[in-house]
Order: sequence, then C-alpha cells, then structure tokens
Amino acid sequence: MKISVLASSSHGNASVVSAGRTVLLVDAGISARRIKQGIESCGLTLADISGICITHEHGDHIGGLGVLSGKVTAPLYCSRYLREDIRGVAPGLTITCIEPGVKVQIGEIQVRPISVSHDAIDPLGYIFEADGVRLGYVTDTGHVTRGMRVALQGLDAIYLESNYDLEMLHGSGRRPELIERIEGLWGHLSNAQACELIEQIDHPGLKHVILAHLSPECNTPECAGGAMQAVLNKLDHATTLHIARQADLLPWIEL
Ligand SMILES: [Zn+2]
Ligand SMILES: [Zn+2]
Repeated sequence: MKISVLASSSHGNASVVSAGRTVLLVDAGISARRIKQGIESCGLTLADISGICITHEHGDHIGGLGVLSGKVTAPLYCSRYLREDIRGVAPGLTITCIEPGVKVQIGEIQVRPISVSHDAIDPLGYIFEADGVRLGYVTDTGHVTRGMRVALQGLDAIYLESNYDLEMLHGSGRRPELIERIEGLWGHLSNAQACELIEQIDHPGLKHVILAHLSPECNTPECAGGAMQAVLNKLDHATTLHIARQADLLPWIEL
C-alpha cells in the first residue's frame, strides 16, 4: 500500500491511497483541476480512481467534489447522514453509505471508518488495510477518544492532523469564539495532542508518521515537525516523519 498527499492544510485536503490496482481518493477539498494534476503526477488518471472516501462535509474536504463529479465514475463512500449533502453538491456520483466500525472492501483495500470528534455531521477517520499493512487516517478531530486510541493500535503508518501550535493560536488575533472552537473538543488537534497520540500508539512497527492539516496562520512545518521529531527520537523506533503541505504534493510513500 502507498499514499500520496495531493495537498493538505486548513485550506484544502486531498490524498490518494493505493494498493495493487485499487486507487482511493480520500477527500476532495481542493479544485478538481488540482486533483486531476495531482493524480497525474502520481502516474494515474481520474479513470483509475476506484472509490472516493469522504471524512466530512467541510469545504476544505469536499470543495472540489462538484466539478469532480462530472469527471469520475467511481462510487463515493460517506456517512449515511451526509448522503443528502453530498448529493446536493455532487449529483452525478453514486453514493455508498458507510458507518463507523463496519469494514467495507474496495478492490484490494479494506476500509474501516472510525468516529472522530469534530463539529461536522458524523465525521469519520479511516483505517485502510491491504496485504497486512495498516494505515490510520485521522484528521479534523478536537481530541482523541478512547475508542480512537484502541482502533489506532498496531498501525504501520498514520496520516495525522497536527493543526495548530497553542501559542501561535492564542497570539493569532482571531476572535475568541473561533479560538475556542479550534481548541475545543470538536475542533482540531494541536501539535502537542498529535505528539501525545503518537506516544500512546507507538510500537516498533510504526514506520511512517505523516503530519497533515497544518494551519497556515497558527502553525509552521518547522514547529509541528520539530515537536513530533523530538517525540520520535525519544521513542527510537526508526519511524520516518513526513509533513504534508498545501502548495506541494507529497509524493508516494511506500508503506
Ligand atoms: Zn473540518
Ligand atoms: Zn479540515
């Protein structure tokens, strides 16, 4: 299995997860044009997409779906509570409803949705599994629940939100209500919370940590990456750290 992050930040998110001939697009929060270009940079075309997995309905995760829906025929997988919203923005797509804890097989990849904690309709994370390799996909969650921690044990790799540095958030000049939302239980993970999760799920088999959904205003790759690298050095399990960015594609990472 392998993953490429086409783009990630608070301004737009899309990734590709692939195993064998199966290609999953995870979220479509950048323009359809950028998704097409990104997919082509991965050596694929839009026709190769086997399925589109949606985490939740915020614009930075589905903003490109409307235009994309006229260009892809692959089914879209999302929470059943999102069906009508998705149908509204992307009427051309076939929708398959999924629910937390219930695995679905999409080609060669087994997909297990997990519940996360975010101010959206039934937001989901994912555990993708193929050939015995497991990739956790956790973004847009205000905190890590016990259920999430249990589900994320024994991963080979994790794509993980590391949204903000607490000091930068508080010094950002944002409205107090917005700061409260971001750092609240249904907001986003801070760098410190992302580090804490890695300490909790670390094991010798965790080979890759991909930090994602960094806020351009309240975080920097140096800040998020520095904090996580210090944790990985302490844990000493030869885990490779990657940082997804908004402007540049993160090329294939073989898991
Ligand atoms: Zn969101
Ligand atoms: Zn988001």
